Amino acid sequence: MDQSAVVAQMRQLIQVLAQHNHAYYVMDQPTIEDSEYDQLFHQLKALEQQHPELTQPDTPTRKVGGKALSKFETLTHSVPMLSLGNVFNQQELNDFARRIEERLPNQKIQYDVELKFDGLAISLWYEHGILVRGVTRGDGETGEVITENVKTIRNLPKVLTSTTTPIPELLEVRGEVLMPKAGFEKLNAENEAKGEKTFANPRNAAAGSLRQLDPSIAASRPLAFYAYGIAQCQPHHGQSTMSASLEWLTQFGFAVGEQHFVCDSIQEVQTAYEKINAERPNLSVEIDGMVIKVDDLKQQQQLGFLSREPRWATAYKFPAVAALTTVDNIDWQVGRTGTLTPVARLNPVAVGGVTVSNVTLHNIGEIHRLDVRIGDTVSVYRSGDVIPKVEKVWPEFRPVDSVEVHLPEQCPVCDSPVVMPEGEALARCSGGLYCAAQRIEAIRHFVSRKAMDIEGLGDRWAESLLHLDLLKDVADIYHLHAHREKLLTIEKMGEKSVQNLIDSIEKSKKTSFASFIFALGIRGVGETTARMLANTFQTLDALRNADLDALKKTPDVGDITAEWIIDFFQAPHNLEVVDRLIAAGIHWDAPIAPTRQPLNGESWVVTGTLSSMGRDEATQMLQALGARVSGSVSAKTKCLVAGEKAGSKLDKAEKLGVAVLDEQAFLALMAEYGQSLDA
Ligand code: NAD
Repeated sequence: MDQSAVVAQMRQLIQVLAQHNHAYYVMDQPTIEDSEYDQLFHQLKALEQQHPELTQPDTPTRKVGGKALSKFETLTHSVPMLSLGNVFNQQELNDFARRIEERLPNQKIQYDVELKFDGLAISLWYEHGILVRGVTRGDGETGEVITENVKTIRNLPKVLTSTTTPIPELLEVRGEVLMPKAGFEKLNAENEAKGEKTFANPRNAAAGSLRQLDPSIAASRPLAFYAYGIAQCQPHHGQSTMSASLEWLTQFGFAVGEQHFVCDSIQEVQTAYEKINAERPNLSVEIDGMVIKVDDLKQQQQLGFLSREPRWATAYKFPAVAALTTVDNIDWQVGRTGTLTPVARLNPVAVGGVTVSNVTLHNIGEIHRLDVRIGDTVSVYRSGDVIPKVEKVWPEFRPVDSVEVHLPEQCPVCDSPVVMPEGEALARCSGGLYCAAQRIEAIRHFVSRKAMDIEGLGDRWAESLLHLDLLKDVADIYHLHAHREKLLTIEKMGEKSVQNLIDSIEKSKKTSFASFIFALGIRGVGETTARMLANTFQTLDALRNADLDALKKTPDVGDITAEWIIDFFQAPHNLEVVDRLIAAGIHWDAPIAPTRQPLNGESWVVTGTLSSMGRDEATQMLQALGARVSGSVSAKTKCLVAGEKAGSKLDKAEKLGVAVLDEQAFLALMAEYGQSLDA
């Protein structure tokens, strides 16, 4: 990269960071996750490390926090309030420890490990034990004086008393104001009920509450203060370690973190971090990591400070819930039911504790909503077990050669036309009978009981037959008999099973037109629709050539299903398979013409136990005569067939005055219409 490109990149990062600094520190309303902010901040820092001579004067990497709000009186801190460096993994933690060891050779180093509270840093001044001032961190040099607000915080001592320790003349305590989780949830629930603004997280709730001119607002909010350090104490408190000085503060009533460790090695620090990360959901306060500090106060002094942070401490942040990365490509995957799903191939990125390199974009609508292109920088979000998702696209980082993504016209697997009827969110491959991606589903459906009814094939053998490459599409089923030897190589497939399978395939060739239509697996065409199509169109040719209008007029066929049927018969590969099926010998008796359907359009219900047949068979007989068979009785029901133990449906039919037939009367009626049990 040449120098001007580096500077341009730095300027862009500075501008984006400044915008989010403002939203976070001044407005208390961040629009991105902290981990995203941290990642951009680190990118800038890395550029500055590679090209120190190009570091921009207004870089945020040398500054702390945000500007003080002018509505408050401001005050310059006598001891600056700094920020902390960050580490994000064990390697970086080890590097932090190594840098310390190099500066303090041959010294024993202990680490004080504290919770990293996610709130607002403040400084509290006590003169002769009386709280006289509370000041925000501001930009580290100058903060906002918010004494009256601070005084409303209930767990914060306003007057220091102790029976054992003399009260210092001057004590400056540093710590964090935050809103414990329970209080935050209650406040948001109350605000929501009142139709008022809710807060994005406890940190913003605390900051927003504290930086109000009217102290009664802060007083009404469930705020708490947790101490994490002493900036000044006169006379000196006499403690020699960080951990002891915090303990010393507790005697005056200051709260400190509910968990706290002193570790003898950096490995112990890592263990403490992992323990707290696991226990995080059970803590009463929100934390965003741990703070690791050299415990010995003299060693802290020896190590000193960098421009914006101490050398003797660092934040060890929890795994990012959101991270930025770039989209290398967007592929279309075809699912088992033909759905086309766009998948973003990402430059691998650590998020939520795992490395993510593929993320589903769900559908073309989502691509448009996000306006994501190949080459874009995106934020990937993952929290806990949640499936990672692309949460946001960063248009400011879009390269000039980014590529827009369109829905493919052809299936990437089988080349059949891709279709997406209006009003549907998902696009699909129309080559359902042929497409390799949909093969297993197509076969399972084709051989199922209510379709071609080939026993055993779907559950037991389909996968093995696919592995042996014996089934490229469903028409190959009718050629399996030519591969006996290969079939015998399948585990648990003996001579007898082969013969049973071949017999069952042979038997399936005689079917009904309706079962055949259903077996094709056309989207939206269930059993009833298939029957209606069979009755309406009578022949395969007529169905294949039916136009949209004719299909829409068919009972039970909705507008979208009509389109799916057209699309199915327009995919040339589907037609090839259908032709091969017919050529293999599949045949049926002509369906009963609608003119010969005496129950055409009537709504019937079957209930209770029939002794001579199952309810399915009764349903089939009724449907063959043109009736629609429904699951519930209503005023529109023409007749209820009631077997033994007919319950509430019978009661309802009687109440509504719907005609009821018992089994005998039903059989007699069917016989009259030429339907018998073996028909
Ligand atoms: P920081 O929050 O990473 O660390 C420094 C701060 O940690 C200290 O000032 C102190 O207030 C706090 N802290 C909490 N517990 C502590 C403990 N036990 N001991 C010592 N200090 C403790 O750094 P920062 O400079 O305050 O702010 C940067 C943070 O703000 C980052 O987390 C960043 O992601 C976030 N930020 C987010 C956005 C956004 O848009 N989301 C914008 C700006 C900043």
